[in-house]
Amino acid sequence: MTQGAPQATNCARCGASFGCGINQASCWCQTLPTLDPARLDAAAGCYCPTCLATLVAEQRQQDDAACGSSAKS
Ligand SMILES: [Zn+2]
Repeated sequence: MTQGAPQATNCARCGASFGCGINQASCWCQTLPTLDPARLDAAAGCYCPTCLATLVAEQRQQDDAACGSSAKS
């Protein structure tokens, strides 16, 4: 077993290869806000930094829209 190096994996969304820190003490993905599990396909695997940031931003926009829809001018 090798441990310590990020695990090379491919993004479930765009297919880009990136390093996942799942076998390390921490992963870069833990620095981002948690995504709603309903938005994730757990069986598909991890997302690359670009896609994860995009999904977080989309989730935030939808949350804002849900909260502020009646206050729109
Ligand atoms: Zn991606």
